[in-house]
Amino acid sequence: MTNLIFNVPVPSITIAGTDARFPVRRIFCVGRNYEEHAKEFGNNPKDPPFFFTKPADAVVESGAKLPFPVATENLHFEAELVVAIGIDGSAIDRDAARKHVFGFAAGNDLTRRDLQTQAKEARRPWDMAKGFDNAAVLGAITPVAEWNRDAARITCTLEGVLKQDANITDMIWPVADIIAYLSRLVHLRAGDLIMTGTPAGVGQIKPGQVCTVAIDGLAEATVTLG
Ligand code: MN
Repeated sequence: MTNLIFNVPVPSITIAGTDARFPVRRIFCVGRNYEEHAKEFGNNPKDPPFFFTKPADAVVESGAKLPFPVATENLHFEAELVVAIGIDGSAIDRDAARKHVFGFAAGNDLTRRDLQTQAKEARRPWDMAKGFDNAAVLGAITPVAEWNRDAARITCTLEGVLKQDANITDMIWPVADIIAYLSRLVHLRAGDLIMTGTPAGVGQIKPGQVCTVAIDGLAEATVTLG
């Protein structure tokens, strides 16, 4: 790679219990994966899963103090289970999906909701609503050998007030189905992250507030907005 005219850093996330780091290749996100959240935006929960993306370098580690995002008057939190892919695969069957998982993390899919609403109304892409700088807050990744659950409480707390409280069993499309669907749209690669959608109760984060996503057994994802 000596011909590169400059170096581009590889984004990465802490792996719990080690000093090794997980390199981030791409970030895929599932839209509307909890029935009550789909309904709160007036959508049909029985639709098949759909996906959007964030740039890899949108990842920030738990504990970050971020400048308040530009170009929004309505920043939202979204508590999500994040899947870290460790082994490449395409057209993966749901029964084989777990073999491709390196580990899991708690994440916050930060959203410029006002830009998303405008994009929906104008039938434009969501990129600038979802894929802005620092838009993916992640806790440390726990390897699948230490955390491989189909049920776990997922919460989002804003300034100490519980805002989202659900269980990953409430997902319309569980992790194995998401991997099966997504791997038929792209060739999944080691380093890919999948944010698996948020439960009901999303809401606004204002400047100066602290927001924490917690999932039983995983490291929490906390962020402070400037
Ligand atoms: Mn989301």
